[in-house]
Amino acid sequence: MSLTTKKVIVPKHNIEQVAQILNNGLKKEFEFVDVNVVDCPDLTQSPFNLAASGLGGKTTIVDVGGPPYLIPLVQRDKIYSFELVAGLGTQWSTEHAFIIGAGAGPFHLVGQNCELMPNVLLKMNDSMQYEVIKNNTHYSKVNDKDEYKLNKSTSTQFSLLGNMFISEGKSGKVLKIEARKRIGEDNFVTAIRKVLKGHYGDEPVSLGGVFIIETGKAKLHIMPDFSSKPLQSDDDVNNWLRFFEMDAPLVCLSVFHSHDPDMDLRIEHTHCFSDHNQGGHYHYDTTPKDVTYLAYFNLAESIVRIDAPTESHSIGRD
Ligand SMILES: [Zn+2]
Repeated sequence: MSLTTKKVIVPKHNIEQVAQILNNGLKKEFEFVDVNVVDCPDLTQSPFNLAASGLGGKTTIVDVGGPPYLIPLVQRDKIYSFELVAGLGTQWSTEHAFIIGAGAGPFHLVGQNCELMPNVLLKMNDSMQYEVIKNNTHYSKVNDKDEYKLNKSTSTQFSLLGNMFISEGKSGKVLKIEARKRIGEDNFVTAIRKVLKGHYGDEPVSLGGVFIIETGKAKLHIMPDFSSKPLQSDDDVNNWLRFFEMDAPLVCLSVFHSHDPDMDLRIEHTHCFSDHNQGGHYHYDTTPKDVTYLAYFNLAESIVRIDAPTESHSIGRD
């Protein structure tokens, strides 16, 4: 399969400065906030349960496909794989590729449309192909009675769209963000994005990593099976999606950009999983007084846009 690929180098930002800007800016959004640059903890451990320990080494964010392949109607030929994303994202330049983020699940294997929480470590073999070392990817699906289930995905395939942070999984310096008691209107990620946009303007700051909703509850959606009726507006999409309030602790895999350098990017995308059968696409916490966030993010050095739709639209990107 040959796919269009466009790579953009992100301006290099000083991580200490990013921490300081967030520390000041997020004070308007949370009653308590503390942002520091720290050595990344071992993210393979609980509560994170990621496939690799760190977020360091040749960091990139890939944006694969997009909502136009789902909306107004599904394009079932849009099947991708983590191996492909690792190769195109790193240009086959790394021994290891650790991929986390948010996407649409392998409907052709699961039997229906579903949410995917990519969380996989790959290693290049002697034939220059990426092979899975560890796969802790999950997917969540919902039936027509609104009964949902979170499952482990043993496959490396996904579909339609994906927003993923790739690194070599190495240790190193990362942003640690602690925030409690939300007083602003925006969700955790949007709040961070807007603070960065306010300072850096049209110079993109692109971040990926993991956050835990440690206490409180959050509104998440799970896509049901594909709509047979064309989805023509955000209202159509919101009537089709299934929304749920889910409980902490939730492990949230997140990718976002302060600014889109004209690449038709999904500006933020976060999917959560848990060890209590809950998971899906993060919208916002529903318990601002009781919510606690703990995040570890790293800066992406580049953005790679893969298989961008030739005709795009802005529906279904919330
Ligand atoms: Zn999503």
